[in-house]
Amino acid sequence: MSKLSERVRVELRDLAPYKPGKPIEEVQRELGLERIVKLASNEYPENAFPEVVEALQKEILELNRYPDATWHELLDAATSVYPITRGEILFGNGGNEILELLVHLMCGPGDEVVYAHPSFPIYGLLARSHFDTGVSVPLDSDQKHDLQAMLDAITERTRLIFICNPNNPTGTWVTETEFVAFMEKVPEDVLVVLDEAYVEFVTDPRFPRFFELRTRFANLASMRSFSKVYSLAALRIGYLLGSEEVVGLLQRVRQPFNANRLAQRAATVALQHQDRVAERREANSRGLDQLRSGLHDLGCATLPSQTNFLLTRPPEPVDDLFDRLLRQGAIVRPMGSFGLGEGSFRVNTGTAEENRIFLDGLGRVLRGED
Ligand SMILES: *Cc1c(COP(=O)(O)O)cnc(C)c1O
Repeated sequence: MSKLSERVRVELRDLAPYKPGKPIEEVQRELGLERIVKLASNEYPENAFPEVVEALQKEILELNRYPDATWHELLDAATSVYPITRGEILFGNGGNEILELLVHLMCGPGDEVVYAHPSFPIYGLLARSHFDTGVSVPLDSDQKHDLQAMLDAITERTRLIFICNPNNPTGTWVTETEFVAFMEKVPEDVLVVLDEAYVEFVTDPRFPRFFELRTRFANLASMRSFSKVYSLAALRIGYLLGSEEVVGLLQRVRQPFNANRLAQRAATVALQHQDRVAERREANSRGLDQLRSGLHDLGCATLPSQTNFLLTRPPEPVDDLFDRLLRQGAIVRPMGSFGLGEGSFRVNTGTAEENRIFLDGLGRVLRGED
């Protein structure tokens, strides 16, 4: 280790960097394949709404100008879609930045942030780099959040709890009844953040209704993203819905231009097309049905999911499954780095054709015909 590396904060020295899903271009280059379907990063399979793309073509002529640090137009759009005031929403450079700002706001040395495992790996990464404040609680035997165990994990040092609902990478979810019983027992000085990155895909009526619950629990907030149903992953924009108090506190720690000009424009226009969100929710349900029945026909088990992905496991462990699927032209997400063992993998809904390409390729691999 160099002298410089020895000066790095002790809790950061052996932190492993986040492993993202492979970009399509990289796989194509490596394997010389023509057609590749990427079902590995829970992206929506089509580009952003056409109205968004059109608006961006104009916005791109003003790249020399800083973005609006006060998000004026974006707040107009958000407050007409959601039952909130302008002071109850905070935008960020992706939902990921929102999560980071929350840890930054709440956690100093000796404090604790509670989250589930396996869940979104960013919580652990952020907590470790903020004075090693992470406390992870295993999912229950149904791969759902174990809310009782999470309550038991709360101590005087707990400042923040992340509940990824529905959970990435399992797709499982907690119901409103379960969640309310949990919230009733969480101390009011502990901030509970629902990570609702997939909320637009949810169809189960028992899912927690954030806008009703927030009036009951002042210590509740919801993180959301434009990266999934809105197809804006490349632009990096997400937000937090919360009380004026929490949003006001976060305003102090954010960078003035944390939501860039193109992202703000795109998000503003995207919000104005909720009809398209509803269409995509239905298309996604059909995609899940197609994937689920195709996987079951191949003998693969799946977990219930309210997201745009399934966690699945082949009937028997398959050597080099991920690489063999790659050679069949399908990128999925192996679950080793999520702590779910090497046997299972996560696959998200593509177009009907992409889903078929993936299922055909998986079938060939499982039958040893690859
Ligand atoms: C995608 C995702 C996010 C946010 O992603 P951004 O691209 O940073 O907006 C947050 N949490 C979970 C669980 C996600 O899957």
